[in-house]
Amino acid sequence: MTESAILFSEAKKFIPGGVNSPVRSFSGVGGTPVYIDHAKGAYLYDSEGKQYTDYVGSWGPMIVGHAHQDVLDVVNETAAKGLSFGAPTELETLMAKKICKLVPSIEQVRMVSSGTEATMSAIRLARGYTGRNKIVKFEGCYHGHSDSLLVKAGSGALTLGVPSSPGVPAAVAADTITLTYNDSDSVKQTFAQIGEQIAAIIVEPVAGNMNCILPVPGFLETLREVCDQYETVLIFDEVMTGFRVDKHCAQGLYNIKPDLTTLGKIIGGGMPVGAFGGAHKIMSSLAPVGSVYQAGTLSGNPVAMAAGYKTLELLSAANFHQHLAEKTRLLAEGIQAKAIAAGIGMSINVVGGMFGLFFSQDDHISSFAQVMRCDQELFKQFFHGMLNEGFYLAPSAFEAGFVSSAHSDADITATIAAAERVFNQL
Ligand code: PMP
Repeated sequence: MTESAILFSEAKKFIPGGVNSPVRSFSGVGGTPVYIDHAKGAYLYDSEGKQYTDYVGSWGPMIVGHAHQDVLDVVNETAAKGLSFGAPTELETLMAKKICKLVPSIEQVRMVSSGTEATMSAIRLARGYTGRNKIVKFEGCYHGHSDSLLVKAGSGALTLGVPSSPGVPAAVAADTITLTYNDSDSVKQTFAQIGEQIAAIIVEPVAGNMNCILPVPGFLETLREVCDQYETVLIFDEVMTGFRVDKHCAQGLYNIKPDLTTLGKIIGGGMPVGAFGGAHKIMSSLAPVGSVYQAGTLSGNPVAMAAGYKTLELLSAANFHQHLAEKTRLLAEGIQAKAIAAGIGMSINVVGGMFGLFFSQDDHISSFAQVMRCDQELFKQFFHGMLNEGFYLAPSAFEAGFVSSAHSDADITATIAAAERVFNQL
């Protein structure tokens, strides 16, 4: 038995499925999850000391690489002053100001401790603000695991085949309308029928929880138009895309201004953090100014603020995203070329530091239905082949991949060479 297998078997006795988040169990690909001992830069090291080049990056947060010295320094300095006070600190204001400066649609922001909390709170705020109950989401998008949003969801819910979870009351799910991503007509039709009842549209501006699907031209624009027309709150869930695809998030890249934005992952630099923010007129409905309630014992935690603030400073460097995007494109195109040379159909999507590989004969993948038609068996074999070679990809065909600024050109070249060897064995 490997060290990971021993650790996993012990974990399963005391933790459901052995893990604290389902996809980590490798249920999407089979086999035993790799137990991580430590990480540095672009690399993970397992409990036996094997090195893996990491394209998961803790599912997005580690955009400047693991254990970046500048981030560790501020975390250590801040922790030495105390871990949590439950009272305001100046760091929270610095963090809020930084987010407001980088994301033009955000005038005020509230910190929470996870992406799930951010989206759940944004939905409550939109409902409280509009006095309406219904919300629109898109099939295959994942917005965390709160009841209203766990309907036809992506990510682990999709990997495990339970996109709509037992335990979500039918009455709650009934207020969630699920439409097809990138299908503007269905959005227009739904709003023409019941637009006045819809509190919010929540959308991943780039869908990263059904692999990686880019918005087709006009889709995000349509969402903005119908929301303006029906006074519905447009929520961009940028928990994944925020600061990942552009310094100004997906909304900066595509030049669409949502009413509310949810953030997470990168803004915590690896610490547990989320946030939601937007126009002052909506945010002022929140307690203690307004009556929509939301709170958190550890919200705005000083150590998390310090890690996130430093990460945002690092990614604000000139050309950071340009270099990241270039590296990510080279990686995805390189892997695709090797697949095709080996006679394997592969389509790719790339935006900023995020990518999707699709085992498919389709030239271009832009819908949930196309993602579902991809060859999952081939993906599993590819995943395990790469893992064996020392390259750690997301253990699911329904997750985007992430590159960090710590990945060197040599890492990218080595990954493409490994992919070639693996394809030739498939
Ligand atoms: N929204 C999106 C777009 C996400 O990708 C995720 C997590 N992958 C969430 C929300 C939920 O965030 P968390 O896991 O921090 O609760």
